[in-house]
Amino acid sequence: MLNEGRIDLLERAPLLKRLLKARAFQPAMMLATLLVFTLAILAGIAGTPAGSRNFGIVFVWIVWWALLIVVLVPFFGRLWCTICPIPAPGEWLQRRAIVRRGAARLWTRGLRWPRRLKNMWLQNFGFLAVALFSTIILTRPGVSAWLLLSFLLAGVLLSALYKNRVFCRYVCPVGGFIGLYSLVSPVELRVADPNVCADHKTKDCITGNEFGYGCPWMVFPGSLTRNAYCGLCFECLKTCPKNNIVLNLRPFGSDLTVAKERRLDEAYKAFIMLGCALLYSAVLLGPWGWLKDWANMDTLPHWALYAASFLSANLVLLPGLFGLSVWIGRSASGSGQPLRRLFVDYAYTLIPLGLAAWIAFSTGFVLVNGSYALTVLSDPFGWGWDLFGTAGMHWTPLGATIIPFLQVGVLTAGLMAALNTAYKIARQHGIPHRAAFVEALPVSGFALVVTVGFLRLYLG
Ligand code: SF4
Ligand code: SF4
Repeated sequence: MLNEGRIDLLERAPLLKRLLKARAFQPAMMLATLLVFTLAILAGIAGTPAGSRNFGIVFVWIVWWALLIVVLVPFFGRLWCTICPIPAPGEWLQRRAIVRRGAARLWTRGLRWPRRLKNMWLQNFGFLAVALFSTIILTRPGVSAWLLLSFLLAGVLLSALYKNRVFCRYVCPVGGFIGLYSLVSPVELRVADPNVCADHKTKDCITGNEFGYGCPWMVFPGSLTRNAYCGLCFECLKTCPKNNIVLNLRPFGSDLTVAKERRLDEAYKAFIMLGCALLYSAVLLGPWGWLKDWANMDTLPHWALYAASFLSANLVLLPGLFGLSVWIGRSASGSGQPLRRLFVDYAYTLIPLGLAAWIAFSTGFVLVNGSYALTVLSDPFGWGWDLFGTAGMHWTPLGATIIPFLQVGVLTAGLMAALNTAYKIARQHGIPHRAAFVEALPVSGFALVVTVGFLRLYLG
């Protein structure tokens, strides 16, 4: 049963439903975030080059990042995409309207997005590129600002060329991992009854009507079984004349065991996210100062070596070792499943573990560096202003004694979720309990070793 064990939040909270159906809600939120985003870009370009004194660095890479990865993604899935400022100018141009329902035809060249790119690969390589230069991006306000500006311009350009949110769906490096990790979230947008959709001839959620646009994310709500590609824009809530859209509260990780849409590009996203979390932790928290220097481009040959190792670890080493553990499990259990299928299926066990690793890493980072937010709030450009009387605040790292406990707790929860997912995936291969246990065992061992690696880095 599609909605079994779910609580429909819209039914429980009619005010929430009214809010989400209001045409002004999403643009109002986007305008607010666009304002902050613009300030971050201006501060990056015109403000102080000292990262810890610059609003662009502190609010994007500490405040926003922590909010996104510690709160929004794990608990609300793609809710950030509801209010994200990056696609806003392009979308408003396409619609030639911000709040009211604009012209039926979108203002765009309407080109066809290449079939070959209808997947996560561009997002995977985009994220790797950003991650590779992250020590530069995260500390140099100017570089960070130009990167943010280039995202905004790419959003406008792609909106002018292609219909709907092609940038969000296929290009945005942030959107890619939000989509994957939102499989874990306990909130989902679905239809109450798929049969109502099947019988509904006009499919207003696809075509749009006077109340809203056809799905900007190019998905059909009637066949949604996972959170990955629904951007929670709530257009279908406005357009559906059958009142068939629900916003459910559900158990964590519900989408991880949805078998039918698993793909290699998503599997690689799981490896890249886990690998980057591991490498970030090693570079920023590990005892190897020389590694940090290499990542910071102390010399070009050092950085080239770092880049080659970074890419090989993410694209070859981690997937290779994981593939080996899948192969061992397959051989030991006598499973008749193709190796590629098992490789892709089991990669989904790394989603809760990767998310937990990012939460653990970011929690430590934000508690230690979060106090910079108060300073830059009063002096966003580092020009000596003191708007709210907090500019003189000194760096005050918080929670030094509780951070390790939080990290151990989060990583243990992530590992437990990974082991549970591995066993459930094994059972989906139609094998009995004992064989499923054997098939999933090496993958579980892999997850355990990775978790111990994280703990070594965090606890020293
Ligand atoms: S408009 Fe509503 S009922 Fe019709 S197809 Fe879309 S979601 Fe289903
Ligand atoms: S399915 Fe509905 S909420 Fe999700 S992206 Fe499409 S229109 Fe927006």
